Amino acid sequence: MNAKKEEKKVENSPKTCDKCKSPASIILAYGPHNYCEKHFTQFFENRFKKTIRKYNLFRAKEKILIALSGGKDSCVLLHLMHKYYSKNNTLEALIIDEGVNGYREKAIKVAKENCENLGVKYTIISFKSEFGITNDKLMPLILNNPKLGGTCSFCGTLRRNIMNKYAKKFKADKLATGHNLDDEVQSFVMNVFNNDFERMKRMSATSGIIDHEGFVKRIKPLYETPEKEIIAYCAMKGIKHYSQECCPYSWTAKRNEYREMLNHFENRFPGTEYSILRFYENIKPLIRPSEKEKPILARALHECKTCKEPTERELCKACEMIKRIKLEQKEGKQNSKNKKHLDKYNKALTCSSTKGSRN
Ligand code: SF4
Repeated sequence: MNAKKEEKKVENSPKTCDKCKSPASIILAYGPHNYCEKHFTQFFENRFKKTIRKYNLFRAKEKILIALSGGKDSCVLLHLMHKYYSKNNTLEALIIDEGVNGYREKAIKVAKENCENLGVKYTIISFKSEFGITNDKLMPLILNNPKLGGTCSFCGTLRRNIMNKYAKKFKADKLATGHNLDDEVQSFVMNVFNNDFERMKRMSATSGIIDHEGFVKRIKPLYETPEKEIIAYCAMKGIKHYSQECCPYSWTAKRNEYREMLNHFENRFPGTEYSILRFYENIKPLIRPSEKEKPILARALHECKTCKEPTERELCKACEMIKRIKLEQKEGKQNSKNKKHLDKYNKALTCSSTKGSRN
């Protein structure tokens, strides 16, 4: 056999697991690593635990409130937190109902089932009960007036307000979210493109830069886990999650463009996303406030006049946004033309092109 034929034979030969030499079920091009199902799940779970240790995300005995949407990321987070930390920590879930008819209730059903199967206590809080408005009412108003901000960033601000408020109410030490590697890298690149240095400073496996009694630390145990691997892990472990439809407003998110661009780079040059994350971790100590500056920043915070959440202004960002929306509603600026525009895109786009935003 000549050298060319020999080369082709090697290329076409089935890949075997790096650990046990049985046929590989998954190939992680950035390694490269080839794993069978058993060794992939071991690798995946070890990385999850390592991230928690490396970034010192929480300690034994702490109470962790898990933000659960019913999607793959938060369901995997719930399962792994339960598998490894339910003996030494108190776990509870917070499910937020943004009020998106025909979509949210299905995801909430899956989220509840996961909690019930694992015996994790959960609470559902809705935008309607907290802010008197649903996403279905909010979104046409936002689309009609771009000055109000992006749809997903609006929704994200309201969600963060609820998460922090209820984490305090439930006396949680930490609030865990399902943000994954792809989400974090997209946020980093978005912040560069938007010249949003302030938001960039707050990124990392633990978000926030100020230690203040009004804030519960947000932690991201899936910070170093690629999204594709979460999908594979869900399939291998049979973790129930909601994936049939996307939020009908997700097509409006600018983040979709960043996802597409970064996915392209990752496919072409495996490891790009990890490189971006490492770059951010390298510059983080240089851009974050010093220990001396932190108490000064904390002192600038006081309670929001409406919801009592910490803010530098009279109203926190969520209450300020709601105030502007109510004004917009009063003025009757809702434009039916844009509603039609929204419906048209809802039908045209599918989950492969959009995904819930991670604001
Ligand atoms: Fe909110 Fe956007 Fe997520 Fe829909 S996709 S739930 S609008 S953040």
